[in-house]
Amino acid sequence: MSATVEKATTATERRIVHKFPGMPAQDGAGVKLTRLVGTPQLPDLDPILMLDTFRSDNPNDYGAGFPEHPHRGFETVSYMIKGSMAHRDNHGGKGLITDGGVQWMTAGRGVAHSEMPAQTGGHMFGFQLWLNLPAKEKMREPWYADIPATEIPVIALGGGNSAKLIVGEWNDMKGPGPDRAIQPFIADVTVAANSEVEVPVAAGHNAFLYVFEGEAKVAGESVRKGELAVLSLGDKTRVGAAADGARFLVVAGKPLREPIAKYGPFVMNTADEIRKAIHDYQSGQF
Ligand code: MN
Repeated sequence: MSATVEKATTATERRIVHKFPGMPAQDGAGVKLTRLVGTPQLPDLDPILMLDTFRSDNPNDYGAGFPEHPHRGFETVSYMIKGSMAHRDNHGGKGLITDGGVQWMTAGRGVAHSEMPAQTGGHMFGFQLWLNLPAKEKMREPWYADIPATEIPVIALGGGNSAKLIVGEWNDMKGPGPDRAIQPFIADVTVAANSEVEVPVAAGHNAFLYVFEGEAKVAGESVRKGELAVLSLGDKTRVGAAADGARFLVVAGKPLREPIAKYGPFVMNTADEIRKAIHDYQSGQF
């Protein structure tokens, strides 16, 4: 008997392992959103801890926003396709991102902040990702950056295909997001009808795509609008589009393979560290 073993020289194409429609959730002061990562079906995809999307033309769905709340042990990345998000934190971080902009906040040892979304022209559509920090960096100093849309390169891929690169590298271009241990890759990719792109995700990094316009295809399998597809490992990531084209977010990172202890806005490695986070926040040490 011999198992089928792929030769080391053979390129392995990523394929779809699971597809999830996400689940309706509420957070902050009653903001209605769809949780795609961080659900019972997909608690995390190491090192990605959470992905929420909020899309509504009704201000009552999110008007009260996310009033002051703490975080420790990870990073939040907010990307507003349409609409704006105002941020203020207790370390002097303050900013407003508008259509196409990104807020990158490294909570590290502790931040208390508020996040207030607003419409642009009657529309609001955005994402928030939580990216994990390695154990040795969970208590690093907090950090915050606003990245306006004008600083996010649009990579022309030919044939009407393009990618907005938030962080990572693509065709010798580098996204404006910070260098991190997990080597994050975040891109907003547009693929023309019946076309295909190769997304430069590092082999061995976990990756998903979330389709928000049209229909994408990975290794012959469709991913419809509103679906998140978790990809297998592999050294080639090809994503195509069906007859209406596709627009999707690709998120990837190097797995940390460390224990995760998660409690609300705190993500640490052990239950003791969570108890300490709660104590430190309640005693005003953030
Ligand atoms: Mn927050």
